[in-house]
Amino acid sequence: MIALSTRAVLVACLGLVLSLCTPAVAGASGQWRWPVTGPHRVIHPYQPPAHNWLPGHRGVDLGVGSSRVVYAVGAGRVSFVGQIAHRSVVVIMHVGNLRTTYEPVTATVRLGQRVAVGQRIGIVQGQGSHCRPRCLHLGLKRGTAYLNPLLLFAPNHARLLPHLDP
Ligand SMILES: [Zn+2]
Repeated sequence: MIALSTRAVLVACLGLVLSLCTPAVAGASGQWRWPVTGPHRVIHPYQPPAHNWLPGHRGVDLGVGSSRVVYAVGAGRVSFVGQIAHRSVVVIMHVGNLRTTYEPVTATVRLGQRVAVGQRIGIVQGQGSHCRPRCLHLGLKRGTAYLNPLLLFAPNHARLLPHLDP
């Protein structure tokens, strides 16, 4: 027979495991949305390098067509607005230690600002994009691990998000 204290520990552990899965379930329930409206085909897919120090494409490039307004893919807080490698970047922290990056974007939000899902955060710049004529680069990280941002928009896959390797 399992002692009462052991049973309490087991219940607590189960609760912890379930709570770790919560952000992905929230993502699967429609908490995430595309950062642009209208047609937004993926021009350049996610191509992570075999090792962190190697070159790769740590995000997806979305064709923005005539729509240049950029929206937050999920609720969160703006954790960075500024230049990285001569590109204007906006970073938003979300639940579950998830972080989305948008570039090149002229921000209409400020550092520390809370944003709602679908809230306008900026405009895609005409220059500074690494594709022609222009695109929006969307990145996703959990902690220090890069993930495929498209997982946010695929409900069946988003459920597995916490368990995927970078
Ligand atoms: Zn890119």
